[in-house]
Amino acid sequence: MSLDQKYDAIVVGGGHNGLVAAAYLAKAGKSVVLLEGATELGGATTSVRPFPEYDAKLSRYSYLVSLLPDQIVADLGINFKTLERSIASYTPIRKDGEDSGLLISQRWDERTAEDFRKLTGSDKEGQAWQGFYNEIAELAERIAPYMLKPLKSASELKSEIGLPDVWDYLMERPIGEVIKERFQDDVVRGVVLTDALIGTFVSADDLQANRCFLYHLIGNGTGQWRVPQGGMGALVIELKRVAELNGVKINLNSYVSDIDSDENGVAVTTSSGAKYSAQDLLFAGAPQTLAKLRGKSAPNSLEGSQMKINMLLSKLPQLKSGVDPKLAFAGTFHINESYSQLENSYQLAKSGQIPGDLPLEMYCHTLTDPTILSPELNQRGFHTLTLFGLHTPAALFDKDPEGSKELAKKSAIESLNQYLAEPIESVLAVCKDGSLAIEAKSPLDLENDLGLPRGNIFHRDLDFPFIDGTERNELTWGSETDDSRIFLAGAGARRGGGVSGIAGHNAAMAVLSKH
Ligand SMILES: Cc1cc2nc3c(=O)[nH]c(=O)nc-3n(C[C@H](O)[C@H](O)[C@H](O)COP(=O)(O)OP(=O)(O)OC[C@H]3O[C@@H](n4cnc5c(N)ncnc54)[C@H](O)[C@@H]3O)c2cc1C
Repeated sequence: MSLDQKYDAIVVGGGHNGLVAAAYLAKAGKSVVLLEGATELGGATTSVRPFPEYDAKLSRYSYLVSLLPDQIVADLGINFKTLERSIASYTPIRKDGEDSGLLISQRWDERTAEDFRKLTGSDKEGQAWQGFYNEIAELAERIAPYMLKPLKSASELKSEIGLPDVWDYLMERPIGEVIKERFQDDVVRGVVLTDALIGTFVSADDLQANRCFLYHLIGNGTGQWRVPQGGMGALVIELKRVAELNGVKINLNSYVSDIDSDENGVAVTTSSGAKYSAQDLLFAGAPQTLAKLRGKSAPNSLEGSQMKINMLLSKLPQLKSGVDPKLAFAGTFHINESYSQLENSYQLAKSGQIPGDLPLEMYCHTLTDPTILSPELNQRGFHTLTLFGLHTPAALFDKDPEGSKELAKKSAIESLNQYLAEPIESVLAVCKDGSLAIEAKSPLDLENDLGLPRGNIFHRDLDFPFIDGTERNELTWGSETDDSRIFLAGAGARRGGGVSGIAGHNAAMAVLSKH
């Protein structure tokens, strides 16, 4: 190998996980270089001004935080806060020509109980809801600390957690079956099911949905989805500050195009020809990319299946149901996500069609945290809306990427407008060139912009946070590969996925426990 610059560790990828891994290693006294292919850090956790004439910094890709453990924030000393939303969710409903909705507060209250009663005719469904989520909250609290420890086997973890019934229905039985058993109302069932399908193109009866569901409900021991203060980019700014403070050398525009490993260590070459060598390599891009660079076959994975649409509004739109938009948009706004609609949309998308009543979730960042807007825009009453459309897999966009994106965007807007008294187009801010302040990203855009394979937001399929017997020799932290000098530090590592820093932390621990 011709070696130019030697470090203890090379971190490839400057998304939040790469930054977390680099910061932990540098804090432990290791010399670290971080190589990021793009012109900026952050990967899927960036904030940008998509409409340059407006001083509004939107979380372009990921938008809410649940999985980031307080321990990582404290260990690294980052100044990053997340804020609670007063509303958990709102689902507008159109039934027999009447518009109403289901508003669920973050903490159970009489208003929520009343909405359940109005929708379902009794208190039974509301009680079922409280019982189900209380059980899961107990499991979340018990399982969360294990995310930052060496992996346990399923049977060890199950017995240490000590909630065998909850374990059975979350890890072993299809979540669709469980939801149908616990809830009777199609809308209520769908609100629950949505968490199992975010970015995950499966039917409710596929165990992959359970994995997605689990990660959506156990974050940081509470499962609460919180608003990143200052936007998602605020996390990246802090991680960069702490990494550099501890001596990490960060090189942008450094796409790693070649990886070599032998008994002397690892060496990488960037596409501009720069070479680096180190004892260990932590790869914080996708496992599929790592496999390609090493000439190995890539792990199988589902493709990404979501649209992300970012909007800047001159005011919040009124709703047909008459609910105050400041309440409706403050939490997660569910559209066309009843259980049957979700399953229908899945079948339609599987058959090659963009679903008409596109299921989507949406929220308004600025209702909880106005700091992403300039004081002037705040004063004028501007708001942002972040829309995440489900069941729009990458395959739907292959033939005609731009044309299909326009169709999917149209479908999302039509879905949303079904419930608005003022069409969304009438409240979108207008840009200097007369265009409306709305941008859409398809799974193919996510692949092009961020290197997410087929737009998979978790890099690859999520795994349960435990191992089976056969993996015992290979995995301790979930970051190990078949090369003892190369570790996975990004979302595609076991227990990665989402904005959590867990994969970065665990890869750093795997390296530190070696030396
Ligand atoms: C649209 C969207 C919405 C989402 N919403 C949420 C949400 O609200 N909450 C949540 O928790 N999660 C969400 N996620 C998922 C979450 O954002 C990701 O799982 C997580 O950010 C991944 O972080 P990472 O650091 O592991 O990887 P990434 O953020 O993907 O970063 C990887 C970095 O590695 C770089 N890289 C890759 N290959 C190379 C190479 N060969 N050489 C050099 N650099 C390389 C890339 O340029 C990139 O910067 C969302 C994702 C998307 C796309």
